[in-house]
Amino acid sequence: MKYYKTVNINTSIQRSLYGSVLIIYTGGTIGMDYDEATGSLIPFDFEKIIEKVPELKRFEFQLTVLSFSKLLDSSDIGISHWMELTRIIGDFYDDYDGFVILHGTDTMAFSASALSFLLENLGKPVIFTGAQLPIGASRTDARDNLIAALEIAANKKNGQSLVPEVCIYFDHLLLRGNRAKKVQNFNFTAFESANYPALAVAGIHIDYNLPATKKPEGKPLKIHQKMEEKVAILKIFPGLSWEFMESFFSNPKLKGIVLETFGSGNAPTDEKFLKIINQAIQRGIIILNVSQCNGGSVTQGKYLTSKHLAEIGVIGGGDMTTEAAITKLMFVLATKENPKEIREILEASVAGEIS
Ligand code: ASP
Repeated sequence: MKYYKTVNINTSIQRSLYGSVLIIYTGGTIGMDYDEATGSLIPFDFEKIIEKVPELKRFEFQLTVLSFSKLLDSSDIGISHWMELTRIIGDFYDDYDGFVILHGTDTMAFSASALSFLLENLGKPVIFTGAQLPIGASRTDARDNLIAALEIAANKKNGQSLVPEVCIYFDHLLLRGNRAKKVQNFNFTAFESANYPALAVAGIHIDYNLPATKKPEGKPLKIHQKMEEKVAILKIFPGLSWEFMESFFSNPKLKGIVLETFGSGNAPTDEKFLKIINQAIQRGIIILNVSQCNGGSVTQGKYLTSKHLAEIGVIGGGDMTTEAAITKLMFVLATKENPKEIREILEASVAGEIS
């Protein structure tokens, strides 16, 4: 049942003869414009997007906009919004060739990672994009990001979507969503994917890296609607107090922790530190080790400082980003109970998030 209000945009094609894209507008800087009366930034009515981006008139595919009823700065995004996005895509899946989600950049990599797990057997593009400057600003990056994201979402070859994945498009790069990380808040190159190549680079043409892109599995889309919220991230640092760590780890409600460690997965060898982790694992808490480095992988056992972690049952997260690791943990803990199965899934690639 579709409860959402959608508005069609006046492009040159009104019916979906050549393709169709649903734009889902959640909020963020991209949708901001200057209020003429006060001069301050306020959310722009995206249904009037053609006034800001007249180039869209020349698009030869159908464009439809669906706006969240309450527009969000992406710092306010949570599990319920991921469920809503997933539901919308499920409801409209057969009606559109692709989806573009307009989202604030701050937590975009978390949302893209979450959706990559929640949309199983995805066979169509779901492209997140946003902007560093509001669509109403003269040097905005919003227009370029939006136009290229739409083109990518609509592009097909022999009737098949070129990028049937959850991605982030930003500043000429199309990145796998669960490999991307926000690395800049000052210039336009906001996102990076240190451990996986770009799926496309937009220059004069959009140059697709098809060998690196997921192939559609031809199975029906399966929507997941559950995520475990009793999880946390602990970034370790030299000088971390074992006392604080112990009170954090001993919370009886805790089900899983992403441990952000040094270098290739290294952590203190202090007995007290290892005892706190060991006791948590004995209580059934799942601990997933990812690196604080953007590039490279966790290799537990490479140094003595990570060998102990492997020995007490910490799970190595390979080259997953923290964003992918925490959303994967939320997803897996909501769907599986058997610790052996949970470990196997966390160590394997579910949606291309780990090499
Ligand atoms: N604070 C904004 C957000 O993430 C920044 C942006 O859109 O880039 O929603």
